[in-house]
Amino acid sequence: MTSVAPPAPAAAPGPPPPASPSPAPSAGHSTTTVERGSFCLARCTCGWSGPARRARDRARTDAAAHLALL
Ligand SMILES: [Zn+2]
Repeated sequence: MTSVAPPAPAAAPGPPPPASPSPAPSAGHSTTTVERGSFCLARCTCGWSGPARRARDRARTDAAAHLALL
């Protein structure tokens, strides 16, 4: 005879997952490109800055690489 059903593992202890509507790779790091003369370099809110590039697309690649290494 089965009188008591097994408890469902619904209530799991732990912090709820943070809801992030924006597809930000990581919090605290916001990269942007800064033009300096004829060059362009990537900058991050954490203080990181990439090397000066002659193309903005390269600076964005540096920014993506910085976020990927986090
Ligand atoms: Zn950063």
